[in-house]
Amino acid sequence: MTKVAPIDDAELAGLKSVFSGSVLVAGDDGYDEVRQVHNGMINKYPRVIARCAGTADVVDALAFARSHALEIAVRGGGHNVAGRAVCDNGMMIDLSLMKGIWTDPDARRVRAQAGVCWGEFNRETQAHGLATTGGAVGSTGIAGLTLGGGFGYLMGKYGYTIDNLVSAELVTADGNILTASESENTELFWGLRGGGGNFGIVTSFEFALHPVGPTINGGLIAFDAADTRASLNYLREMSANPDDEMTAVCSLTHAPDGSGRKLAAMLVCHLGAGDNAKTALASVRAIAPPVIDRLGPISYCDLNSILDPSFPKQALNYWKTCTVPELSDAVLGILVEQFGRCPSTMSKLIIERPHGAALRRKSSDTAFPNRSEAINILILSQWQSTEDTDVNIAWARETYDLLHPFAGSNVYSNYLGDDETLERLRAAYGDNFDRLQALKNQYDPENIFHLNQNIPPSA
Ligand SMILES: Cc1cc2nc3c(=O)[nH]c(=O)nc-3n(C[C@H](O)[C@H](O)[C@H](O)COP(=O)(O)OP(=O)(O)OC[C@H]3O[C@@H](n4cnc5c(N)ncnc54)[C@H](O)[C@@H]3O)c2cc1C
Repeated sequence: MTKVAPIDDAELAGLKSVFSGSVLVAGDDGYDEVRQVHNGMINKYPRVIARCAGTADVVDALAFARSHALEIAVRGGGHNVAGRAVCDNGMMIDLSLMKGIWTDPDARRVRAQAGVCWGEFNRETQAHGLATTGGAVGSTGIAGLTLGGGFGYLMGKYGYTIDNLVSAELVTADGNILTASESENTELFWGLRGGGGNFGIVTSFEFALHPVGPTINGGLIAFDAADTRASLNYLREMSANPDDEMTAVCSLTHAPDGSGRKLAAMLVCHLGAGDNAKTALASVRAIAPPVIDRLGPISYCDLNSILDPSFPKQALNYWKTCTVPELSDAVLGILVEQFGRCPSTMSKLIIERPHGAALRRKSSDTAFPNRSEAINILILSQWQSTEDTDVNIAWARETYDLLHPFAGSNVYSNYLGDDETLERLRAAYGDNFDRLQALKNQYDPENIFHLNQNIPPSA
């Protein structure tokens, strides 16, 4: 392991004197709050936290970390379940103060800095009636989500988040500031669209925007757990009758009233107007008699915050994920049975079906290769007390083990925890892995940026 060079007060003062943001060490006000990420299972103590206010701060923080051989963790929204946005004894380069958002409604473009979260992003772009595919929870960072692919309610019509990325500014391991786009550093641009934080620290993202709402049709509807099969069958049948305007996600979840009642919920977004939307919502209502029915006209911002209360910061999380080529009867049976024995009322099984525009590109077009009809399953184990940790992790692992024989090699790296193998990541990227590794060799041969779903250099 690399020996960390000692840091004296004068050196830290030197960094602070040029910094537009702030530099924190243990004992400083705010240190404990900033080092906490979304997942309460992660409890790490960086030697230095560099709270960057802009690109120049990122360059200086990186140079400081490198000159002291400090391990580097980069924090966007801090939502990654593996907790790679923070480290022990190294430097956390925290981008969460970088909140600039500049919307150009005429060009239908937006540039957003890397500390922006989806709730903030949607609020600004929706002020112009515009949006792009993004995360379904307001506090998820645009940075990590985009760099991994990006599932969201708009993916049927507008593709994954990466399909809407126009350019990115990043600071590479050697401290250079580059722009990557379809016309500049094109291979790097390919790698940023799915390759995670492997190639540098992205300071801002430029996205294409589309007219959306502000009022659309959709919301949440939930059925009794006894109707889980009917709900999953609905999702299955959607493949046979594709509609780009309509995205529906099934969540086997618990009643929000705290009763612990098990429910099969559907989160629905329909971008069409008039009768098309009414017919689509009616087809969801026809699944079974609903226990909760909040389907109807809803603002796009409200749709994207329905789930926020279900994911409290610092709850304990352990996730497993896989894709299955189809929702076969056997897979349905496992989901129903395992949800029946789910030990925490905060846990969920989330079943997502990428479709439409997200699947109309080739696997090799972007580093994130998932362009097939495969269904994504997220086993989201979440609980509050450390006493319950073992039983909740065991449930997630057992569910995953049962699904594994039916799973394909594709996997969404943004849902992977910290106990996955390089083999799994290699399989997830498939034919794109070697190309990603060549990019890693070029841009980060020393693997400075390794606290991510790491693609190690081959040399
Ligand atoms: C409650 C919740 C809801 C979610 N909903 C969705 C969803 O709807 N759709 C979806 O696709 N995913 C979703 N996710 C998964 C999400 O995509 C990942 O957790 C993602 O990593 C979050 O990004 P972040 O910036 O918040 O995370 P962070 O933990 O800050 O970062 C994640 C990784 O990216 C690296 N990184 C962060 N910023 C940068 C940067 N600027 N430059 C280089 N590397 C960087 C970090 O070092 C880390 O390795 C959700 C996660 C949670 C916890």
